[in-house]
Amino acid sequence: MPELPEVETIARGVDERVRGRRIVSVWTGSKPEPFKSAPEKIVEALTGSVIQKVHRVGKHVVIDLTRAAGAEGWQGQWLVHLGMTGRLLVSHPDVAVPLHTHAIAQLDDGREIRFVDPRRFGRLQVLDLSPSRASKKRDGELEEPKRFTGTGQEPLAISPEAFRELFRSRRTPIKSALLNQSLLHGVGNIYADESLYRAGIRPRRHAARLTVRELGALWSALQSVLTEAIALGGSSVSDYVGADGAKGFFQLEHKVYMRTGQPCARCGTPIRRLVLGGRSTHYCPKCQR
Ligand SMILES: [Zn+2]
Repeated sequence: MPELPEVETIARGVDERVRGRRIVSVWTGSKPEPFKSAPEKIVEALTGSVIQKVHRVGKHVVIDLTRAAGAEGWQGQWLVHLGMTGRLLVSHPDVAVPLHTHAIAQLDDGREIRFVDPRRFGRLQVLDLSPSRASKKRDGELEEPKRFTGTGQEPLAISPEAFRELFRSRRTPIKSALLNQSLLHGVGNIYADESLYRAGIRPRRHAARLTVRELGALWSALQSVLTEAIALGGSSVSDYVGADGAKGFFQLEHKVYMRTGQPCARCGTPIRRLVLGGRSTHYCPKCQR
């Protein structure tokens, strides 16, 4: 499943390729699951829109859209959640359309943005952010439609102090708290395990019992793990590939994730696996306390 660095890599890759292009037509497939907004709404919102920017919010790829003159300042967002196996490809029209393609947005230069998802846990949604959609609040002031912010805080923007506050009162294992998307968004299994290893903290420790120093170390570890993974183009485990089909390379750097029984790079102790909240968890019993 793509996590924050993979989604960031995909968003950047798509942004480089399609920013400033206009969507001229949209095709949607017949499988209902991928459409969190009705397919007709997606077609209506996207057709004729200009792509201002493609960026990441949590684990969503967010495509900011506006309309050319004459459409009274229409603006909106196209949200893509990749689920387990979703991919967002930018392809020339002569490249065969892959199986399990659920939506195609054709661009004014002939290329296509294709949403492909074999397991169909991914979701497509559109938000209408036009000023005309503003609703009256009780005090009579206009409330602007909200841009997508997702749930939880952005792990690469949160301060060490806010990070500490977030976990101080959590009575769950720290690994589970890291995976809780209502606290931090975008951190999944790989980067939770790798950050805890770097910070020297056992995944099962209760978040509320971690010291200020340990939480500081975990904050730093999370920043460095995510930043390095983004620099390397995300992890390429299972189906993940970037916008151009290139695989990421962060899996070469994994120190504990999926390395059960292999020696710890620091101390040589075999890496252990346990199941925590239904998720596989990997750690070094000597380096993590
Ligand atoms: Zn070790």
